[in-house]
Amino acid sequence: MFRGATVVTGDPVLGVRPETDVLVAGPVIRAVGRNLSVPDDAAVIHARGSILMPGMIDTHRHMWQTVLRGVGAEWTLHNYLHWIYQEWARHWRPEDVYAGNYLSMVEAIDSGVTTSLDWSHGLRTPDHADAAVDALVDSGGRARLAYGNIFAAPQDWVTGGDVDRLLRERFPSRDRLVTLQLAWDGGGSDPAFPEGPAWEFARDRDLPVTLHAGVWGHPRDVAIKNLHDNGCLLPTNTYVHAASLADESYRMIADSGGNVSIAPESELNAGQGYPPTGRVRAHGIPVSLSTDTSVWWSADMFAAMRAALNADRAMGHLMAHRAGRTVINNDLRTEDVVHQATQAGADALGLGDRLGSITPGKLADLVLLRTDTPSMVPLSDPHHQIVFQATRAEVDTVMVNGRVLKHAGRLRTPNATRARHLAEAARDHIRAAVGEEQWTRALEPPGYEVE
Ligand SMILES: [Zn+2]
Repeated sequence: MFRGATVVTGDPVLGVRPETDVLVAGPVIRAVGRNLSVPDDAAVIHARGSILMPGMIDTHRHMWQTVLRGVGAEWTLHNYLHWIYQEWARHWRPEDVYAGNYLSMVEAIDSGVTTSLDWSHGLRTPDHADAAVDALVDSGGRARLAYGNIFAAPQDWVTGGDVDRLLRERFPSRDRLVTLQLAWDGGGSDPAFPEGPAWEFARDRDLPVTLHAGVWGHPRDVAIKNLHDNGCLLPTNTYVHAASLADESYRMIADSGGNVSIAPESELNAGQGYPPTGRVRAHGIPVSLSTDTSVWWSADMFAAMRAALNADRAMGHLMAHRAGRTVINNDLRTEDVVHQATQAGADALGLGDRLGSITPGKLADLVLLRTDTPSMVPLSDPHHQIVFQATRAEVDTVMVNGRVLKHAGRLRTPNATRARHLAEAARDHIRAAVGEEQWTRALEPPGYEVE
């Protein structure tokens, strides 16, 4: 039982409720109301003055790369593809995938992200895949493993047997904390559409697919058209970035019922295209938010929400100023990006009826934010301050599936010290494998250059 919080339910009927109790029984939210009675032996978290919100949901995060945190802060997408895809990805051993995933889950849960989609495209052997699953399960958080493999073509690895093995051995039911889907960069520019068997496989097994799309320098509108012409714009598809696309592509995505994951810190820094918040919304496509990779950025949804608003409003002002005009009132609002970071993320994972809002009957994935800190006091409007003032330092309590994983600002599980030791060992292994000369060259790319 959370007693007396300012509850930002995210529920369209319940809205924001001051001094309200939230009763949790087992994994489920039982009631939202004032002065609820509880059994004598119930655990009570006194939450008066704090904000209780739904757990945040990140729909695109390359967890395996977390062991190289911060290495790519100066990179463009060009640098990233060179160093990670072409040069370094092959050096990850299964234990390095485990370390990255485990640390990423520690970071997620600590910062109030209760569900993460692990966009795991380094799974080149069954041992790598098992390590990825093990880490997600061991964390105690909620996650979706999006199985991917940049070392092979999707038509080969998707149908190669290991996804079926995982379904059989590791994912016998869809009611668990960790579930499975697929990830590859679909469409391409070859009209022969060689990846067809991979899509058939996904459809046969009812596995959603997430794909990077609309990425500058790579097949963009032609990839969307290729998917469309081959009947693969599925309603369960998530298009990551979806920047640099023509209106016709957005229209096809909208008509198909697919959704878009925007990683605004990523698009603004790496160069996939401008975060398409306005254009995607104008086409009525559902938008969730994501953090992409800790090789550059924080895996922190507060940062993602802020970056989304910053980008959207900056573009609005810039366009108006170019036309000699002034924006009088803003379009995208704080409540919109809180929705994108919670309910829209649940919807993107096909879990919208069970997660994403504080609604009786849904699963209890909850985050309690302090409001007595220097950055939050005094409290005027919870949505405004969740987006522009809150940081992970305000995350006091995190509950996943009715279980308290963090309380009074201290992470109980997963084990942050273990995560640090594993990640440092993995980083040391990869650094030794690539050699000091390459490592130093990668961290300090040459000066500004355009081609
Ligand atoms: Zn990505």
